[in-house]
Amino acid sequence: MKEQSIPKATAKRLPLYYRYLRFLADSGKTKVSSTELSEVVKVDSATIRRDFSYFGELGKRGYGYDVESLLNFFAKTLSEDRLTNVALIGVGNLGNALLKYGFHQSNNIRISAAFDIREDIVGRIVDGVPVYPLSDMKEQIKLQQIEIAILTVPSSVAQDNVNKLIDAGIKGIMNFTPIRINTPHDIQVQNVDLTNELQTLIYFLNHYGPKLEKQ
Ligand code: ATP
Repeated sequence: MKEQSIPKATAKRLPLYYRYLRFLADSGKTKVSSTELSEVVKVDSATIRRDFSYFGELGKRGYGYDVESLLNFFAKTLSEDRLTNVALIGVGNLGNALLKYGFHQSNNIRISAAFDIREDIVGRIVDGVPVYPLSDMKEQIKLQQIEIAILTVPSSVAQDNVNKLIDAGIKGIMNFTPIRINTPHDIQVQNVDLTNELQTLIYFLNHYGPKLEKQ
């Protein structure tokens, strides 16, 4: 089946399923039921069955799902079968943390180039990642076939950097700045505003109290 026909909400849950299935496969398990999966990934089993039904033959439930086939399918769909190089723009506090983080949940995502304007950091290797000047951005992005960039620069220069990234051929941006960036329609943007998330959590706690039951 074509990847594009998986709904976005389902696609968002794939990494979750993938991680758990990999864990199952490592511990030698060959079959898993939607109920078992549901307990661990905290997604209700009806949703899991609906999600899996998009995977054609693989999603047919009989006797539980075949762990290895699902794993192979997810790996392909999530591009885990090939290395994805990612660029990081802005090696400040957050950028540094992301360089250190190393995306342990995935073996095949790595930040392969970082960019900054600070003279004390440009030309150095931070946590195994070379930091380039902005003037090298286009060249490195093309050379390393980078399609995704993480944006951790001050808000005031976010749009300017986005324009440069698009000019360099970037297709997806993970935007950690609090501003909403303008991009052409064919560029995918994920906004990750940590302060916003925390404020939402505080609001929910204050207005709805702690969650008493599992969803
Ligand atoms: P954070 O928001 O990650 O906590 P910080 O407070 O350490 O960051 P910021 O001022 O937000 O620092 O800058 C983040 C990083 O972006 C810094 O390393 C800074 O040098 C870099 N930066 C600033 N301006 C630009 C620019 N125009 N292009 C690229 N990087 C930039």
